[in-house]
Amino acid sequence: MGESGFVHTFLPGRVVFGAGTLDQVAGEVELLGVRRVLLVATRSARDAADVVEVELGDRFAGRIDGVAQHVPTEVAEAARDKAREIGADGIVAIGGGSAIGLAKAVALTTGPASDPTGRAVGGLTSGAAGGASGGVVIVAVPTTYAGSEMTPVWGETAGGSKTTGTDLRVLPRVVVYDPVLSQHLPKKVTAASVANAIAHCVEAVWTPRADPITETTAVEGLRALTVGLKQILADPTDLDARSNLLYGACLGGSALATAGTGLHHKLCHLLGGTYNLPHAETHAAVLPQVAHFNAPAVPRAKARLEEALQTDELAGGLFDLFAAAGVPTSLRELGLSREQAEEAARAFQPTANPIPVTEELVEEILTRAWAGTRPGSPEPGSREV
Ligand code: NAD
Repeated sequence: MGESGFVHTFLPGRVVFGAGTLDQVAGEVELLGVRRVLLVATRSARDAADVVEVELGDRFAGRIDGVAQHVPTEVAEAARDKAREIGADGIVAIGGGSAIGLAKAVALTTGPASDPTGRAVGGLTSGAAGGASGGVVIVAVPTTYAGSEMTPVWGETAGGSKTTGTDLRVLPRVVVYDPVLSQHLPKKVTAASVANAIAHCVEAVWTPRADPITETTAVEGLRALTVGLKQILADPTDLDARSNLLYGACLGGSALATAGTGLHHKLCHLLGGTYNLPHAETHAAVLPQVAHFNAPAVPRAKARLEEALQTDELAGGLFDLFAAAGVPTSLRELGLSREQAEEAARAFQPTANPIPVTEELVEEILTRAWAGTRPGSPEPGSREV
């Protein structure tokens, strides 16, 4: 562990995990003391939402089917109006980061403001009703591996620009992980979503707020995600694989929630926000390149992550895993032009990082990410696309 001390804040929340746990959602809502539930579900989770609606009985108050990526303000406003109209004191969100993001957008505007640093834990004792604290509480039922359900981070997009922040009001009180719900998530969507979860695990070891607890959480998350992704490539409906992936996503989200984000996420955020690149896939193209430069500066964590990834070189191992899973490993495959990559490098604002973030470093990372160059290869563009 090393000799230096550290401070770690555990965020409050309850996790219910296992095949068939969808049937426990209504019971968890009851335990929280929530009386009027707004059900928010991604279209692909409509059947699961039908089950929960019936099981909620009198507590069911209204429903939103269908969500949009990156929480557009108009969609968030409509959801807030609906929540007010039906007097919701709780939301059950079933789906990926987009459904959970919409629930967060509603919760953010209810109840007393919380510590914007996300480090305070007062007032969030498990079991307290939403009504008691004045805010709408969230029960999240994730069906992808984005990990948003474990974080107090919210985001909303207006006029093409995404604003994000941290507030404990948006942290789900209960997360129900039922691997059956993601059993038919298409292989391509699965692989990209796993890349997103892996990025949470890898970046969590080098952010300024990383500590030995976030590192251990992240390493175990990467181990489970690696095993799960390899199982999925052999059989996408393997329930054990789906469990491994959800468990890894939970750990990745949890590590991210405490360690925060760094160079990698800030680059992805810039690319996604400015050029509308798909969230999960952008991670796969950028992460191996950032890992190539950052990982040598955190040698203990690098060695632990390499063991978890079953590789002897982290950056190259990440690249190979994503390529084997069929996730695009270049930004040009995602539609970014070379000029846009250069423009992004110039626009990037330096951030705290284990090695200094110079314009040259960002340019090299983005040039390699644009071309899809395997880390360790000398010339950008060496991998044909
Ligand atoms: P998503 O929720 O948009 O889902 C991706 C696609 O998968 C959608 O088309 C959806 O309909 C489909 N889908 C979801 N579950 C399915 C299932 N079980 N079967 C079949 N199809 C299914 O995307 P995502 O990658 O889960 O989340 C991305 C969003 O989450 C982004 O807006 C990102 O910024 C946000 N995010 C937030 C945090 C946070 O901490 N706040 C963390 C990670 C991601």
